[in-house]
Amino acid sequence: MSDRHATTDVILIGAGVMSATLGALLKELAPEWEIKVFEKLASAGEESSNEWNNAGTGHAALCELNYTVEKPDGSVDISKAIKVNEQFQVSRQFWSYLVERKLISNPEDFIRSLPHMSFVQGEKDVNFLRKRFEAMSGNPLFQGMEFSDDPAKLKEWIPVMMKDRPSNEPIAATKIDSGTDVNFGALTRLLFDHLKSRNVEIQYKHQVDNIKRASDGSWELKIRNLESGTVARHNAKFVFIGGGGGSLHLLQKSGIPEGKHIGGFPVSGLFMVCNNPKVVEQHHAKVYGKAKVGAPPMSVPHLDTRFIDNKKSLLFGPFAGFSPKFLKTGSMFDLITSVKPNNLFTMLAAGAKNMPLTKYLIQQVMLSKEQRMEELREFIPDAKIEDWDLVVAGQRVQVIKDTDSGKGTLQFGTEVVSAADGSIAALLGASPGASTAVSVMLEVMQKCFPQRMPEWESKIKEMIPSYGLSLLKNPELIREIHHSTARALGLVSERELQLVN
Ligand SMILES: Cc1cc2nc3c(=O)[nH]c(=O)nc-3n(C[C@H](O)[C@H](O)[C@H](O)COP(=O)(O)OP(=O)(O)OC[C@H]3O[C@@H](n4cnc5c(N)ncnc54)[C@H](O)[C@@H]3O)c2cc1C
Repeated sequence: MSDRHATTDVILIGAGVMSATLGALLKELAPEWEIKVFEKLASAGEESSNEWNNAGTGHAALCELNYTVEKPDGSVDISKAIKVNEQFQVSRQFWSYLVERKLISNPEDFIRSLPHMSFVQGEKDVNFLRKRFEAMSGNPLFQGMEFSDDPAKLKEWIPVMMKDRPSNEPIAATKIDSGTDVNFGALTRLLFDHLKSRNVEIQYKHQVDNIKRASDGSWELKIRNLESGTVARHNAKFVFIGGGGGSLHLLQKSGIPEGKHIGGFPVSGLFMVCNNPKVVEQHHAKVYGKAKVGAPPMSVPHLDTRFIDNKKSLLFGPFAGFSPKFLKTGSMFDLITSVKPNNLFTMLAAGAKNMPLTKYLIQQVMLSKEQRMEELREFIPDAKIEDWDLVVAGQRVQVIKDTDSGKGTLQFGTEVVSAADGSIAALLGASPGASTAVSVMLEVMQKCFPQRMPEWESKIKEMIPSYGLSLLKNPELIREIHHSTARALGLVSERELQLVN
Protein backbone atom coordinates (compact mmCIF):
# COMPACT_ATOMS: atom_id res chain seq x y z
CA MET A 1 0.00 0.00 0.00
CA SER A 2 1.30 3.48 -0.83
CA ASP A 3 -0.06 7.02 -0.47
CA ARG A 4 1.12 10.42 -1.62
CA HIS A 5 1.34 13.72 0.25
CA ALA A 6 1.51 17.35 -0.81
CA THR A 7 4.96 18.90 -1.19
CA THR A 8 6.43 20.18 2.11
CA ASP A 9 8.97 23.01 2.36
CA VAL A 10 11.47 21.02 4.42
CA ILE A 11 11.95 17.38 5.42
CA LEU A 12 14.51 16.55 8.09
CA ILE A 13 15.59 12.90 8.12
CA GLY A 14 16.53 11.66 11.59
CA ALA A 15 15.73 13.05 15.04
CA GLY A 16 19.28 13.61 16.30
CA VAL A 17 20.86 16.84 17.51
CA MET A 18 21.72 17.99 13.97
CA SER A 19 18.16 17.87 12.58
CA ALA A 20 16.92 19.35 15.87
CA THR A 21 19.32 22.28 15.54
CA LEU A 22 18.55 22.95 11.87
CA GLY A 23 14.81 22.74 12.58
CA ALA A 24 15.12 25.21 15.49
CA LEU A 25 17.18 27.67 13.39
CA LEU A 26 14.77 27.50 10.44
CA LYS A 27 11.71 27.96 12.68
CA GLU A 28 13.19 31.29 13.85
CA LEU A 29 14.20 32.42 10.36
CA ALA A 30 11.29 31.21 8.26
CA PRO A 31 8.45 30.45 10.71
CA GLU A 32 5.96 30.06 7.87
CA TRP A 33 7.80 27.09 6.35
CA GLU A 34 6.23 23.68 6.79
CA ILE A 35 8.72 21.22 8.30
CA LYS A 36 8.35 17.45 8.71
CA VAL A 37 10.70 15.05 10.49
CA PHE A 38 10.96 11.29 9.96
CA GLU A 39 12.79 9.15 12.50
CA LYS A 40 13.04 5.38 12.37
CA LEU A 41 13.37 4.91 16.14
CA ALA A 42 10.61 5.41 18.74
CA SER A 43 11.87 8.76 20.09
CA ALA A 44 14.33 11.60 19.55
CA GLY A 45 18.06 11.50 20.40
CA GLU A 46 18.38 7.73 20.65
CA GLU A 47 21.47 7.18 18.45
CA SER A 48 24.81 9.07 18.72
CA SER A 49 23.14 12.09 20.32
CA ASN A 50 21.96 10.00 23.27
CA GLU A 51 23.72 10.84 26.55
CA TRP A 52 25.06 7.29 26.97
CA ASN A 53 26.31 7.10 23.39
CA ASN A 54 28.71 10.07 23.45
CA ALA A 55 31.10 11.64 25.97
CA GLY A 56 29.07 14.80 26.57
CA THR A 57 32.07 17.08 26.25
CA GLY A 58 31.25 20.61 25.21
CA HIS A 59 34.23 20.59 22.81
CA ALA A 60 35.83 24.02 23.09
CA ALA A 61 39.42 22.73 22.73
CA LEU A 62 40.12 23.56 26.36
CA CYS A 63 41.47 20.10 27.18
CA GLU A 64 41.59 17.96 23.99
CA LEU A 65 45.27 17.66 23.11
CA ASN A 66 44.56 16.50 19.54
CA TYR A 67 43.51 20.04 18.53
CA THR A 68 46.97 21.44 19.30
CA VAL A 69 49.90 19.92 17.43
CA GLU A 70 53.60 20.37 18.00
CA LYS A 71 55.26 21.70 14.85
CA PRO A 72 58.69 20.50 13.68
CA ASP A 73 60.28 23.70 15.11
CA GLY A 74 58.93 22.75 18.56
CA SER A 75 56.24 25.45 18.69
CA VAL A 76 52.58 24.53 19.27
CA ASP A 77 50.00 25.29 16.59
CA ILE A 78 46.71 26.32 18.23
CA SER A 79 44.78 27.35 15.08
CA LYS A 80 42.52 24.25 15.14
CA ALA A 81 41.80 24.85 18.85
CA ILE A 82 40.77 28.45 18.08
CA LYS A 83 38.37 27.25 15.37
CA VAL A 84 36.76 24.61 17.61
CA ASN A 85 36.44 27.10 20.48
CA GLU A 86 34.81 29.74 18.26
CA GLN A 87 32.35 27.12 16.97
CA PHE A 88 31.39 26.19 20.54
CA GLN A 89 30.80 29.86 21.39
CA VAL A 90 28.30 29.92 18.48
CA SER A 91 26.42 26.95 20.03
CA ARG A 92 26.43 28.63 23.46
CA GLN A 93 24.94 31.80 21.98
CA PHE A 94 22.12 30.00 20.16
CA TRP A 95 21.26 27.87 23.22
CA SER A 96 21.23 31.06 25.34
CA TYR A 97 18.87 32.72 22.85
CA LEU A 98 16.49 29.75 23.07
CA VAL A 99 16.59 29.77 26.88
CA GLU A 100 16.14 33.55 27.19
CA ARG A 101 13.14 33.46 24.84
CA LYS A 102 11.77 30.53 26.92
CA LEU A 103 11.73 28.33 23.80
CA ILE A 104 13.56 25.69 25.82
CA SER A 105 13.61 25.56 29.60
CA ASN A 106 15.93 24.50 32.43
CA PRO A 107 19.41 24.75 30.87
CA GLU A 108 20.67 22.73 33.84
CA ASP A 109 18.97 19.73 32.26
CA PHE A 110 21.41 19.80 29.33
CA ILE A 111 24.50 21.86 30.24
CA ARG A 112 26.61 22.19 33.39
CA SER A 113 29.80 23.93 34.29
CA LEU A 114 32.69 21.50 34.73
CA PRO A 115 36.49 22.06 34.79
CA HIS A 116 38.27 20.77 31.68
CA MET A 117 41.75 19.41 32.27
CA SER A 118 44.60 17.91 30.25
CA PHE A 119 46.82 15.42 32.05
CA VAL A 120 50.19 14.06 30.85
CA GLN A 121 53.00 11.89 32.15
CA GLY A 122 56.69 11.74 31.18
CA GLU A 123 59.16 14.54 30.51
CA LYS A 124 58.41 14.86 26.78
CA ASP A 125 54.68 15.26 27.26
CA VAL A 126 55.11 17.56 30.26
CA ASN A 127 57.27 19.85 28.08
CA PHE A 128 54.62 19.73 25.36
CA LEU A 129 51.85 20.62 27.80
CA ARG A 130 53.86 23.53 29.19
CA LYS A 131 54.44 24.90 25.68
CA ARG A 132 50.77 24.41 24.81
CA PHE A 133 49.79 26.28 27.97
CA GLU A 134 52.15 29.15 27.07
CA ALA A 135 50.66 29.35 23.56
CA MET A 136 47.06 29.29 24.79
CA SER A 137 46.84 31.01 28.16
CA GLY A 138 47.44 34.52 26.79
CA ASN A 139 44.67 34.06 24.24
CA PRO A 140 41.33 35.55 25.37
CA LEU A 141 39.47 32.43 24.16
CA PHE A 142 41.35 30.30 26.68
CA GLN A 143 41.49 32.80 29.52
CA GLY A 144 41.70 31.32 32.99
CA MET A 145 43.78 28.28 32.01
CA GLU A 146 46.20 27.17 34.76
CA PHE A 147 49.23 24.87 34.54
CA SER A 148 50.83 22.84 37.28
CA ASP A 149 53.47 20.14 37.59
CA ASP A 150 53.40 20.32 41.37
CA PRO A 151 52.04 17.05 42.85
CA ALA A 152 50.55 18.93 45.82
CA LYS A 153 48.54 21.20 43.50
CA LEU A 154 47.48 18.25 41.34
CA LYS A 155 46.28 16.47 44.48
CA GLU A 156 43.97 19.43 45.10
CA TRP A 157 42.67 19.38 41.52
CA ILE A 158 42.35 15.61 40.96
CA PRO A 159 42.60 13.74 44.28
CA VAL A 160 41.35 10.42 42.97
CA MET A 161 43.97 10.46 40.21
CA MET A 162 46.82 11.28 42.59
CA LYS A 163 46.05 8.67 45.28
CA ASP A 164 48.68 5.87 45.28
CA ARG A 165 50.36 7.37 42.17
CA PRO A 166 54.06 6.40 41.97
CA SER A 167 56.19 9.56 42.27
CA ASN A 168 59.01 8.49 39.94
CA GLU A 169 57.72 10.14 36.75
CA PRO A 170 57.14 13.81 35.91
CA ILE A 171 53.43 14.67 35.56
CA ALA A 172 51.55 17.86 34.75
CA ALA A 173 48.06 19.15 34.08
CA THR A 174 46.24 22.21 32.86
CA LYS A 175 42.87 23.23 34.26
CA ILE A 176 40.26 25.67 33.05
CA ASP A 177 37.07 26.18 35.03
CA SER A 178 34.91 27.40 32.14
CA GLY A 179 34.51 23.92 30.58
CA THR A 180 31.13 22.22 30.27
CA ASP A 181 29.42 18.85 30.38
CA VAL A 182 26.60 18.74 27.82
CA ASN A 183 23.78 16.21 27.81
CA PHE A 184 23.18 16.16 24.06
CA GLY A 185 20.36 13.62 24.42
CA ALA A 186 18.42 15.95 26.75
CA LEU A 187 19.16 18.93 24.47
CA THR A 188 17.86 17.02 21.44
CA ARG A 189 14.64 16.08 23.26
CA LEU A 190 14.13 19.70 24.44
CA LEU A 191 14.61 20.98 20.89
CA PHE A 192 12.12 18.47 19.46
CA ASP A 193 9.56 19.39 22.17
CA HIS A 194 9.99 23.00 21.08
CA LEU A 195 9.62 22.09 17.38
CA LYS A 196 6.47 20.10 18.13
CA SER A 197 4.97 23.12 19.88
CA ARG A 198 5.69 25.09 16.67
CA ASN A 199 3.63 22.67 14.52
CA VAL A 200 6.54 20.67 13.18
CA GLU A 201 5.20 17.20 12.34
CA ILE A 202 7.47 14.53 13.81
CA GLN A 203 6.83 10.93 12.81
CA TYR A 204 8.65 8.31 14.85
CA LYS A 205 9.05 4.69 13.73
CA HIS A 206 9.13 5.98 10.16
CA GLN A 207 12.14 4.97 8.09
CA VAL A 208 13.22 6.75 4.93
CA ASP A 209 13.91 3.95 2.44
CA ASN A 210 14.62 5.95 -0.71
CA ILE A 211 15.15 9.46 -2.02
CA LYS A 212 14.80 10.44 -5.64
CA ARG A 213 14.44 13.62 -7.68
CA ALA A 214 10.83 14.27 -8.83
CA SER A 215 10.04 15.75 -12.24
CA ASP A 216 9.21 19.16 -10.70
CA GLY A 217 12.69 19.36 -9.10
CA SER A 218 11.52 18.53 -5.59
CA TRP A 219 12.69 15.40 -3.74
CA GLU A 220 10.41 12.38 -3.34
CA LEU A 221 11.01 10.30 -0.22
CA LYS A 222 9.74 6.76 0.16
CA ILE A 223 8.89 6.35 3.83
CA ARG A 224 8.03 3.09 5.59
CA ASN A 225 5.86 3.05 8.70
CA LEU A 226 7.75 0.45 10.74
CA GLU A 227 4.68 -0.42 12.82
CA SER A 228 2.09 -0.95 10.11
CA GLY A 229 4.45 -1.74 7.21
CA THR A 230 2.70 0.82 4.98
CA VAL A 231 4.69 2.97 2.60
CA ALA A 232 4.01 6.65 1.89
CA ARG A 233 5.61 9.13 -0.50
CA HIS A 234 6.38 12.63 0.71
CA ASN A 235 7.85 15.40 -1.42
CA ALA A 236 9.93 18.32 -0.18
CA LYS A 237 11.58 21.35 -1.73
CA PHE A 238 14.53 20.92 0.65
CA VAL A 239 15.77 17.75 2.37
CA PHE A 240 18.34 17.54 5.17
CA ILE A 241 19.83 14.09 5.64
CA GLY A 242 20.56 14.11 9.37
CA GLY A 243 20.65 10.34 9.70
CA GLY A 244 23.98 10.23 11.63
CA GLY A 245 25.69 7.01 10.57
CA GLY A 246 22.68 6.36 8.28
CA SER A 247 23.37 9.49 6.21
CA LEU A 248 25.89 7.99 3.76
CA HIS A 249 23.46 5.36 2.42
CA LEU A 250 20.72 7.98 2.02
CA LEU A 251 23.11 10.38 0.28
CA GLN A 252 24.08 7.59 -2.12
CA LYS A 253 20.40 6.90 -2.83
CA SER A 254 19.84 10.56 -3.79
CA GLY A 255 22.30 10.02 -6.64
CA ILE A 256 23.71 13.58 -6.49
CA PRO A 257 27.20 13.78 -8.05
CA GLU A 258 28.58 15.49 -4.92
CA GLY A 259 27.85 12.28 -2.98
CA LYS A 260 30.02 10.09 -5.22
CA HIS A 261 33.56 8.89 -4.42
CA ILE A 262 32.82 9.14 -0.70
CA GLY A 263 32.94 6.18 1.66
CA GLY A 264 32.51 5.60 5.37
CA PHE A 265 34.43 3.64 7.99
CA PRO A 266 32.67 2.82 11.26
CA VAL A 267 34.48 3.07 14.59
CA SER A 268 32.54 1.99 17.63
CA GLY A 269 33.06 3.15 21.19
CA LEU A 270 32.95 1.62 24.68
CA PHE A 271 33.03 3.40 28.04
CA MET A 272 33.70 2.11 31.52
CA VAL A 273 31.19 3.43 34.08
CA CYS A 274 31.94 3.62 37.77
CA ASN A 275 29.30 2.00 39.97
CA ASN A 276 30.88 3.05 43.28
CA PRO A 277 29.37 6.39 44.49
CA LYS A 278 32.34 6.98 46.82
CA VAL A 279 34.73 7.07 43.86
CA VAL A 280 32.29 9.15 41.74
CA GLU A 281 32.12 11.79 44.49
CA GLN A 282 35.90 12.22 44.64
CA HIS A 283 36.24 13.48 41.07
CA HIS A 284 34.90 16.66 39.49
CA ALA A 285 36.36 17.35 36.03
CA LYS A 286 36.79 16.13 32.49
CA VAL A 287 40.41 15.02 32.24
CA TYR A 288 41.80 14.31 28.78
CA GLY A 289 45.07 12.43 28.29
CA LYS A 290 47.24 11.88 25.22
CA ALA A 291 46.26 9.42 22.49
CA LYS A 292 48.35 6.28 22.19
CA VAL A 293 50.64 6.05 19.14
CA GLY A 294 48.56 4.82 16.15
CA ALA A 295 45.26 5.63 17.87
CA PRO A 296 42.74 7.77 15.94
CA PRO A 297 42.07 11.23 17.45
CA MET A 298 38.62 10.28 18.77
CA SER A 299 40.21 7.56 20.95
CA VAL A 300 41.98 9.96 23.30
CA PRO A 301 41.37 8.50 26.78
CA HIS A 302 39.50 10.69 29.25
CA LEU A 303 38.06 10.44 32.72
CA ASP A 304 34.80 12.34 32.87
CA THR A 305 32.41 13.51 35.50
CA ARG A 306 29.01 13.41 33.79
CA PHE A 307 25.54 14.59 34.78
CA ILE A 308 22.99 12.13 33.44
CA ASP A 309 19.40 11.87 34.71
CA ASN A 310 20.27 14.51 37.32
CA LYS A 311 22.86 12.16 38.79
CA LYS A 312 26.61 12.60 38.92
CA SER A 313 28.42 9.74 37.14
CA LEU A 314 32.02 8.88 36.28
CA LEU A 315 32.98 7.46 32.90
CA PHE A 316 36.30 6.45 31.38
CA GLY A 317 37.06 5.79 27.73
CA PRO A 318 36.31 5.60 24.95
CA PHE A 319 37.84 2.31 23.91
CA ALA A 320 37.58 2.02 20.16
CA GLY A 321 36.18 -1.04 18.49
CA PHE A 322 35.08 -2.32 15.16
CA SER A 323 31.58 -3.21 14.04
CA PRO A 324 30.45 -3.07 10.41
CA LYS A 325 27.25 -1.30 11.55
CA PHE A 326 26.88 2.42 10.71
CA LEU A 327 24.35 3.02 13.50
CA LYS A 328 24.18 1.32 16.89
CA THR A 329 20.80 0.01 15.73
CA GLY A 330 22.12 -0.55 12.18
CA SER A 331 22.76 -3.68 10.11
CA MET A 332 25.83 -5.94 9.86
CA PHE A 333 25.70 -5.27 6.10
CA ASP A 334 26.05 -1.45 6.43
CA LEU A 335 29.75 -1.33 5.54
CA ILE A 336 29.60 -3.73 2.63
CA THR A 337 26.46 -2.17 1.11
CA SER A 338 28.07 1.29 1.27
CA VAL A 339 30.70 0.18 -1.26
CA LYS A 340 29.54 1.25 -4.72
CA PRO A 341 31.31 1.22 -8.10
CA ASN A 342 32.00 4.97 -7.71
CA ASN A 343 33.73 4.68 -4.30
CA LEU A 344 35.30 1.21 -4.65
CA PHE A 345 38.81 2.50 -5.42
CA THR A 346 38.52 5.20 -2.75
CA MET A 347 37.62 2.50 -0.20
CA LEU A 348 40.36 0.11 -1.36
CA ALA A 349 42.96 2.91 -1.18
CA ALA A 350 41.77 3.76 2.34
CA GLY A 351 42.02 0.10 3.37
CA ALA A 352 45.62 -0.15 2.11
CA LYS A 353 46.65 3.16 3.71
CA ASN A 354 45.09 2.60 7.10
CA MET A 355 46.56 -0.75 8.13
CA PRO A 356 47.89 0.73 11.43
CA LEU A 357 44.36 1.92 12.29
CA THR A 358 42.89 -1.50 11.45
CA LYS A 359 45.57 -3.13 13.63
CA TYR A 360 44.82 -0.69 16.45
CA LEU A 361 41.06 -1.38 16.26
CA ILE A 362 41.60 -5.15 16.29
CA GLN A 363 43.84 -4.80 19.37
CA GLN A 364 41.18 -2.67 21.06
CA VAL A 365 38.41 -5.20 20.33
CA MET A 366 40.53 -8.00 21.82
CA LEU A 367 41.17 -6.19 25.14
CA SER A 368 40.03 -8.05 28.24
CA LYS A 369 38.37 -6.17 31.11
CA GLU A 370 41.60 -6.43 33.12
CA GLN A 371 43.56 -4.88 30.21
CA ARG A 372 41.04 -2.03 30.04
CA MET A 373 41.48 -1.59 33.82
CA GLU A 374 45.23 -1.20 33.21
CA GLU A 375 44.51 1.77 30.92
CA LEU A 376 42.13 3.20 33.51
CA ARG A 377 44.83 2.82 36.19
CA GLU A 378 46.98 5.33 34.29
CA PHE A 379 44.28 7.78 35.45
CA ILE A 380 43.14 6.20 38.74
CA PRO A 381 46.07 4.12 40.03
CA ASP A 382 44.02 2.24 42.66
CA ALA A 383 40.93 1.58 40.46
CA LYS A 384 39.18 -1.66 41.49
CA ILE A 385 37.75 -3.95 38.84
CA GLU A 386 34.50 -4.50 40.78
CA ASP A 387 33.77 -0.73 40.74
CA TRP A 388 33.58 -0.50 36.95
CA ASP A 389 31.16 -1.81 34.29
CA LEU A 390 31.36 -1.61 30.50
CA VAL A 391 28.76 0.22 28.38
CA VAL A 392 28.55 0.31 24.61
CA ALA A 393 28.54 3.87 23.19
CA GLY A 394 27.55 5.08 19.72
CA GLN A 395 28.99 4.42 16.29
CA ARG A 396 30.99 7.07 14.43
CA VAL A 397 31.26 6.76 10.68
CA GLN A 398 34.46 8.46 9.56
CA VAL A 399 34.37 9.95 6.08
CA ILE A 400 36.72 8.53 3.45
CA LYS A 401 37.31 10.63 0.36
CA ASP A 402 39.87 11.57 -2.25
CA THR A 403 41.76 14.70 -1.23
CA ASP A 404 44.94 16.56 -2.20
CA SER A 405 46.83 14.19 0.10
CA GLY A 406 45.70 11.24 -2.01
CA LYS A 407 42.99 8.73 -2.79
CA GLY A 408 41.00 7.23 0.07
CA THR A 409 41.98 9.67 2.83
CA LEU A 410 40.31 9.11 6.19
CA GLN A 411 38.76 12.34 7.53
CA PHE A 412 38.15 12.89 11.21
CA GLY A 413 35.92 15.96 11.00
CA THR A 414 32.34 16.62 9.92
CA GLU A 415 31.47 17.24 6.26
CA VAL A 416 28.43 18.94 4.78
CA VAL A 417 27.73 17.49 1.32
CA SER A 418 25.10 19.38 -0.66
CA ALA A 419 23.68 19.44 -4.18
CA ALA A 420 24.75 22.31 -6.44
CA ASP A 421 21.20 23.73 -6.40
CA GLY A 422 21.04 23.58 -2.59
CA SER A 423 17.93 21.39 -2.56
CA ILE A 424 19.48 18.59 -0.47
CA ALA A 425 22.30 18.37 2.06
CA ALA A 426 23.75 15.59 4.18
CA LEU A 427 25.92 15.69 7.25
CA LEU A 428 28.67 13.07 7.37
CA GLY A 429 31.34 12.40 10.01
CA ALA A 430 31.19 12.93 13.74
CA SER A 431 33.91 15.14 15.16
CA PRO A 432 33.98 17.58 17.01
CA GLY A 433 30.36 16.59 16.63
CA ALA A 434 27.34 17.74 18.54
CA SER A 435 29.19 20.66 20.18
CA THR A 436 29.52 22.37 16.82
CA ALA A 437 25.97 21.58 15.65
CA VAL A 438 24.95 25.25 15.37
CA SER A 439 27.88 26.39 13.20
CA VAL A 440 27.63 23.26 11.06
CA MET A 441 23.90 23.85 10.49
CA LEU A 442 24.63 27.52 9.65
CA GLU A 443 27.04 26.13 7.04
CA VAL A 444 24.19 23.99 5.65
CA MET A 445 22.04 27.12 5.40
CA GLN A 446 24.79 29.13 3.71
CA LYS A 447 25.27 26.36 1.14
CA CYS A 448 21.59 25.65 0.55
CA PHE A 449 19.85 29.03 0.99
CA PRO A 450 22.46 31.57 -0.18
CA GLN A 451 19.76 33.85 -1.65
CA ARG A 452 17.93 34.01 1.75
CA MET A 453 20.98 34.70 3.89
CA PRO A 454 21.08 38.53 3.42
CA GLU A 455 17.43 38.73 4.48
CA TRP A 456 18.06 36.40 7.47
CA GLU A 457 21.28 38.05 8.61
CA SER A 458 19.88 40.49 11.16
CA LYS A 459 17.81 37.73 12.86
CA ILE A 460 20.87 35.44 12.90
CA LYS A 461 22.85 38.25 14.57
CA GLU A 462 20.11 38.66 17.15
CA MET A 463 20.41 34.93 17.96
CA ILE A 464 24.19 34.72 17.57
CA PRO A 465 25.80 38.14 18.15
CA SER A 466 29.23 36.93 17.00
CA TYR A 467 27.85 35.70 13.64
CA GLY A 468 30.20 36.74 10.82
CA LEU A 469 32.82 38.09 13.23
CA SER A 470 36.12 36.62 14.34
CA LEU A 471 35.96 36.37 18.11
CA LEU A 472 39.70 36.30 18.28
CA LYS A 473 39.87 39.76 16.74
CA ASN A 474 37.22 41.07 19.17
CA PRO A 475 38.42 40.32 22.71
CA GLU A 476 35.74 42.59 24.18
CA LEU A 477 33.06 40.55 22.41
CA ILE A 478 34.53 37.30 23.77
CA ARG A 479 34.24 38.62 27.31
CA GLU A 480 30.70 39.85 26.71
CA ILE A 481 29.59 36.54 25.12
CA HIS A 482 31.25 34.52 27.82
CA HIS A 483 29.43 36.40 30.55
CA SER A 484 26.05 36.63 28.86
CA THR A 485 25.94 32.95 27.84
CA ALA A 486 27.20 31.80 31.26
CA ARG A 487 24.42 33.82 32.86
CA ALA A 488 21.71 32.58 30.49
CA LEU A 489 22.80 28.93 30.73
CA GLY A 490 23.43 29.03 34.48
CA LEU A 491 27.12 28.17 34.01
CA VAL A 492 28.68 29.14 37.28
CA SER A 493 31.92 27.36 38.09
CA GLU A 494 32.69 26.02 41.58
CA ARG A 495 35.31 28.77 41.95
CA GLU A 496 32.76 31.51 41.17
CA LEU A 497 30.35 29.91 43.65
CA GLN A 498 33.09 29.98 46.30
CA LEU A 499 33.69 33.67 45.59
CA VAL A 500 29.98 34.43 45.96
CA ASN A 501 29.64 32.45 49.22
C1 LIG B 1 31.63 7.43 21.34
C2 LIG B 1 31.23 8.82 20.93
C3 LIG B 1 31.62 9.92 21.70
C4 LIG B 1 31.27 11.21 21.30
N1 LIG B 1 31.60 12.24 22.12
C5 LIG B 1 31.20 13.50 21.79
C6 LIG B 1 31.46 14.57 22.69
O1 LIG B 1 32.00 14.37 23.77
N2 LIG B 1 31.08 15.81 22.32
C7 LIG B 1 30.47 16.06 21.11
O2 LIG B 1 30.18 17.21 20.82
N3 LIG B 1 30.20 15.05 20.24
C8 LIG B 1 30.54 13.78 20.56
N4 LIG B 1 30.26 12.74 19.71
C9 LIG B 1 29.65 13.03 18.41
C10 LIG B 1 28.16 13.30 18.51
O3 LIG B 1 27.55 12.32 19.30
C11 LIG B 1 27.56 13.31 17.11
O4 LIG B 1 28.28 14.21 16.29
C12 LIG B 1 26.11 13.76 17.08
O5 LIG B 1 25.34 13.15 18.08
C13 LIG B 1 25.52 13.43 15.71
O6 LIG B 1 24.19 13.85 15.68
P1 LIG B 1 23.30 13.47 14.44
O7 LIG B 1 22.01 14.16 14.64
O8 LIG B 1 24.04 13.74 13.18
O9 LIG B 1 23.17 11.87 14.50
P2 LIG B 1 22.35 10.90 15.48
O10 LIG B 1 22.22 11.42 16.84
O11 LIG B 1 22.97 9.56 15.31
O12 LIG B 1 20.90 10.93 14.85
C14 LIG B 1 20.62 10.38 13.58
C15 LIG B 1 19.19 9.88 13.63
O13 LIG B 1 18.80 9.51 12.30
C16 LIG B 1 18.00 8.33 12.38
N5 LIG B 1 18.03 7.68 11.07
C17 LIG B 1 19.11 7.14 10.45
N6 LIG B 1 18.74 6.64 9.25
C18 LIG B 1 17.40 6.89 9.11
C19 LIG B 1 16.45 6.60 8.09
N7 LIG B 1 16.79 5.96 6.96
N8 LIG B 1 15.16 6.99 8.27
C20 LIG B 1 14.78 7.65 9.42
N9 LIG B 1 15.65 7.92 10.42
C21 LIG B 1 16.95 7.55 10.27
C22 LIG B 1 18.69 7.53 13.49
O14 LIG B 1 17.81 6.57 14.04
C23 LIG B 1 19.04 8.63 14.49
O15 LIG B 1 18.03 8.85 15.44
C24 LIG B 1 30.55 11.43 20.09
C25 LIG B 1 30.14 10.33 19.33
C26 LIG B 1 30.45 9.04 19.74
C27 LIG B 1 29.97 7.89 18.94
